[in-house]
Amino acid sequence: MKSILITGASSGIGAAIARLAVRDDYAVGLCYRSNRRGAEEVAEAIRDDNGDVVMLQGDVASKSDVTKIFREFETFYGNPTVVVNNAGIVAPKVRFEDMEEMRLRKMFYTNVIGPFMVAQEAVRRMAKRNGGNGGVIVNVSSVAARLGSGGQYVDYASSKGAMDTLTIGLAQEMADQGVRVVGVRPGIIQTPIHGKGGEPDRADQMAGHIPLQRAGTAMEVAESVLWLASDAASYVTGSILDVAGGR
Ligand code: NAP
Repeated sequence: MKSILITGASSGIGAAIARLAVRDDYAVGLCYRSNRRGAEEVAEAIRDDNGDVVMLQGDVASKSDVTKIFREFETFYGNPTVVVNNAGIVAPKVRFEDMEEMRLRKMFYTNVIGPFMVAQEAVRRMAKRNGGNGGVIVNVSSVAARLGSGGQYVDYASSKGAMDTLTIGLAQEMADQGVRVVGVRPGIIQTPIHGKGGEPDRADQMAGHIPLQRAGTAMEVAESVLWLASDAASYVTGSILDVAGGR
């Protein structure tokens, strides 16, 4: 049985990946932190599609929660075939010198240390040297990593830069371990994240600045993630795919 563990699957891009994963015959570990209702809606939709799903609650910024999520997952589905490091946050626009320490800690714990800990748990189960059967880790970064987001949120952009480097370096370390490590860099995608960052209309406002003249959909990102995770992408590792409408 193929299985996929997706962090941040109660909303937006993660929810779309979870919904689409059923089409590709994955049993789904649907991770969420606080939005239980959102997670339940996604789980219900998966069951309506005759999919197999388990909901896993936890904060990716907490080592004990990450460990718990993987332990619970394996009692249902064994070692995951695919792990998607998708959970992430933005914060309101602010000048660089005004970014408070707590904001920086939260940003880097959630967007960098969390994904590192998730990838560590994945590697412990997937790598041949640890007795695993291989697998794929997909990191959801952002085009902000290469644009820098100056005047907006340099902290967020930097956290995604760290994620891109994780993809490249871990792919090298895992290349002889049966584990591929890949990434996607979404551009402006229509999801609730913009409202959480204090800009609910950001996707519509930015449309004219995107070469394809529109924001992307969570499903368009999910399609790319599932292709990268699939055997169709068997010779792809250490690569990061822009899904950004040309931005
Ligand atoms: P979203 O709709 O706000 O969903 C974020 C998800 O992450 C939610 O399921 C949330 O869970 C989860 N999450 C946040 N903090 C968490 C924590 N500490 N522990 C566990 N889960 C946590 O956002 P999205 O737009 O789908 O974003 C998904 C990923 O895509 C993020 O990494 C984001 O940076 C990236 N991205 C998004 C865009 C865009 O335009 N939307 C562009 C580039 C990159 P709960 O709600 O249950 O707490």
